[in-house]
Amino acid sequence: MTIYRNFINGEWLASSSSQAAPNINPANTNDIIGTIKLSTREEARTAVIAAHDAFKNCKNTPAPTRGKIVAKFARLLEDDKENLAQMLTREEGKTLAESRGELLRSINVAEFCAGESRRLNGETIQSELAANFAYTIKEPHGVVALITPWNFPVAIPVWKIAPALVAGNTVVFKPAETTPATAVRIVELFEAAGLPKGVLNLVLGKGSEIGDEIANHPAVKAISFTGSTETGIKLYEQAAKRGAKVQCEMGGKNPVVVLADCDLDLAVESIANGAFGSTGQRCTATSRAIVIDKIADEFVRKIVEKAKEMRIGDGADTATEMGPMVDEKQFKNVLKYIDIGREDGAEMLCGGKRASGENLENGYFVEPTVFDRVMPDMRIAQEEIFGPILSVLRVKDFDEAMTVANDSNYGLTSSIFTNDPNLIFRFVDEIETGMTHVNSPTTGGEAHIPFGGVKMTGIGAREQGSTALDFYTELKVVYVDYTGRRREGNLY
Ligand code: ADP
Repeated sequence: MTIYRNFINGEWLASSSSQAAPNINPANTNDIIGTIKLSTREEARTAVIAAHDAFKNCKNTPAPTRGKIVAKFARLLEDDKENLAQMLTREEGKTLAESRGELLRSINVAEFCAGESRRLNGETIQSELAANFAYTIKEPHGVVALITPWNFPVAIPVWKIAPALVAGNTVVFKPAETTPATAVRIVELFEAAGLPKGVLNLVLGKGSEIGDEIANHPAVKAISFTGSTETGIKLYEQAAKRGAKVQCEMGGKNPVVVLADCDLDLAVESIANGAFGSTGQRCTATSRAIVIDKIADEFVRKIVEKAKEMRIGDGADTATEMGPMVDEKQFKNVLKYIDIGREDGAEMLCGGKRASGENLENGYFVEPTVFDRVMPDMRIAQEEIFGPILSVLRVKDFDEAMTVANDSNYGLTSSIFTNDPNLIFRFVDEIETGMTHVNSPTTGGEAHIPFGGVKMTGIGAREQGSTALDFYTELKVVYVDYTGRRREGNLY
């Protein structure tokens, strides 16, 4: 049985902790993949110190040299993608097709970041004074803590680690306790790519223990976090006290507006994909369909048909369209929200219980569930569920749809289905989300395009794309006077 180890200062070290947890395949709880030791606070501190000690050398290494290591990592990831995809499906539960997609995205992100290392440029700026100029340079922070969730256990770490390293930071990486195998493999590939010791450190264990220890360590200058709003806001508050930089990507409650003139089959197909794909365990998942009354009956009939058709099962079986919930906690949470929806008076049209059938008895499978006539103030319309549950809210017109769509504390992504160009642009102007889609699902993104949200969803600079390095760098402004004389007068 594999016992996952920490990677500290270039060495794979067994944790001395007496506390451990099994890494369980959520599609078959009899399949125990390995054991994660819940590391000690002392081990977390050792990792921060290793990163701190490695920083000077890292900062002095030219960015293109750092980028070459990330480029090598991208190639190794490419070579290992099938292995990692299988590991991801076994540990997290998503289908193999989804895992392969996640690997592809991760490779793209690593390639993109490697390229960025050759243009980590500042700017030169015209001065008001003759024989003077100014310029800016981008510098790393020092030690950065990267705290990640289980739902994209390859892509999210890669889209944080790669830009952090290209920018010249050193890293302490704390993945979710549910997905240690993929985290270890990512770090092994970075090691094989030639990272000097101490530059990337991995500590496995509990968020409330080692996550807390790392995030609050005075040597950690910046924290990039993806996970729950509750934890993200707590980290933000704590970091503010010592002026550490914070980037948080938190919850979502993503709406889709479906107007009467749209291609309804396209809308249904896309909404089913957004709501039930990855078992609804994506921060970009579609959770609210806001549908014009006139077409609502037909929409609901079609989406229920789709939900009932979904083939549920072990993601390793290529016929499977929807895998299990990641663990017992998520499984129970989703069933709890189904009860809440019913109690609050929403009309449950399909699903609503543990999925049963051949080979499903030992996994955390839930049926895709559609609630109709959901009211905007109901908990299932307001709270992030992170499961295959779609709430349908009926509205009379576009204006009411916008009011309902924006009636949320969250603001990650959204979508509209219509062929009316005026309403498309009004939607883009009025919707309060960091990303939006037109005639396509709320999910999906590309490696070279920024990712992130507004309101309670996002804090700090956007991840990925042209903004990927913003969070990981500080700007230094330099004024150069080459007159050789004492300056007369002042600049204001
Ligand atoms: P989720 O509901 O997705 O598990 P969490 O916010 O609980 O969301 O977890 C996301 C990541 O944050 C995980 O790696 C988890 O271990 C870590 N984490 C949880 N609590 C804390 C904390 N108090 N301090 C630092 N990290 C934490």
